[in-house]
Amino acid sequence: MPLPDLPFNPAHCLIYGAWRAPLGGQTLPLVDPSDGSELAQIARGQSADIDAAVTAAQGAMDGTWGKATALERGRILTRIGQLVLENVDLLAELEARDVGKPLSQARADAIALARYMEFYGGAADKVHGESIPYLEGYTVYTLREPHGVTGHIVPWNYPMQIIGRSVGAALAMGNAAVLKPAEEACLTALMFAEIARSAGLPDGALNVVPGLGAEAGAALSSHPGVHHISFTGSVATGALVQQAAGTNVIPVTLELGGKSPQLVFEDANLDEALPFLVNAGIQNAGQTCSASSRILVQQSRYDEVVAAMSERYRALKVGPAMDDLSVGPLISARQKEIVTGYLSQGTDLQIAAKGKIVEGAPKDGAYVEPHLLLCPDHAHPLAQQEIFGPVQVVIPFRDEEHALAIANGTEYGLVASIWSENGARQMRLARALKSGQVFINNYGAGGGVELPFGGVGKSGHGREKGFEALYGFSTLKTVAAKHG
Ligand code: NAD
Repeated sequence: MPLPDLPFNPAHCLIYGAWRAPLGGQTLPLVDPSDGSELAQIARGQSADIDAAVTAAQGAMDGTWGKATALERGRILTRIGQLVLENVDLLAELEARDVGKPLSQARADAIALARYMEFYGGAADKVHGESIPYLEGYTVYTLREPHGVTGHIVPWNYPMQIIGRSVGAALAMGNAAVLKPAEEACLTALMFAEIARSAGLPDGALNVVPGLGAEAGAALSSHPGVHHISFTGSVATGALVQQAAGTNVIPVTLELGGKSPQLVFEDANLDEALPFLVNAGIQNAGQTCSASSRILVQQSRYDEVVAAMSERYRALKVGPAMDDLSVGPLISARQKEIVTGYLSQGTDLQIAAKGKIVEGAPKDGAYVEPHLLLCPDHAHPLAQQEIFGPVQVVIPFRDEEHALAIANGTEYGLVASIWSENGARQMRLARALKSGQVFINNYGAGGGVELPFGGVGKSGHGREKGFEALYGFSTLKTVAAKHG
């Protein structure tokens, strides 16, 4: 099925408000993971394109965009949000076919992108410095200023949401942006840039260079004209990006992976918990940094939880993204190989239940059956490593202390949740869990754009979303005036 008509050429980069072919003239194929067919050719941007994009972004900082007031920036972002809403159907179809995510999940991501623009549009003129009481004869105050040119390296799993939270916050604070989307999925990044352009975002404020990580991504993270990097992706690449940025001594926000647990205590309300226990693991076919891939259950309710989760697993249907089933394909044949490789390391684990690939699903689609595995030992590789596929392990625990040790017993710390009616336990664990977010009797709280998000340990550092992101995308200047 051909792509819908697009108001830009997907094989182009956006530099200083103009779509143009990458300077090297090369392209890369974009594959539809639902059936393995080619969706489009995208630009294979290289370091010369990144140079041009950084120059364009600096030009915007030195020109109209750099002089725009916070109110004007906020209005433009709000207008972008409105245009995103007007284009939700197109954005959802592009994301579903490019990423392989079921259409209604793709639609939810498009609406979240609009919500980021509304939130950061409204916030742009509400971040300010303070005055500080100091010595007699001084007036001291602080100014929140943009970093300047910000680089945004985005993965393929939630392009719209990640662009919304990172580019939205950067623009709200008056930075210019160079966006390097993932080579596996970048149609909505391009469409978003076109929407921003038609909403009146000044030339150069947002530039987009698709391309390979080792080429365009590496060129962006090491570029001396970039003043801040926001990276979302794997731990290994995050470490490389941080090293590259270190040579230019610029701040880096790293949003990396996770092995996020849900802790189910014997007093948990299982009816409430059940949908979250399963959905948080299989959403986007488990390719979610904050996926809950570990379900920790107190021994007295272990069998009951496994039985209830198994029933839900058996009802899961896997198939093409546009059919909008519970689970779509993985992003690529390569990702399928990685996930099946993990499953083959887990043949010693009992399979409690599996979902089903629907009959007639294209044979070249990257489909994997969702697996619910019983894992008595939390040191098992499948209970320690991020699989990034529809696989959850259920681990039994004795008591609160044991649950905490298991929950904190990986190198990650992104999200955790506590299912218990005991208020004192909720408070103790919320403090003791090593995690960037903790949810009590829910998981994810609907993903609110208002809620700061980020990790500890190998899940990364720095915070995106909410007001917190605006502090990260700005630098603080202290002004001390001596006037006697
Ligand atoms: P990845 O790190 O390979 O790719 C992410 C992005 O980095 C892509 O745009 C890629 O082109 C770019 N890149 C690759 N090599 C680069 C280099 N040398 N220099 C600069 N950029 C480079 O990650 P992936 O395999 O595509 O994504 C899966 C991983 O990302 C998982 O581990 C997942 O947990 C993590 N992730 C985390 C979050 C979060 O918010 N914490 C969100 C999505 C994905």
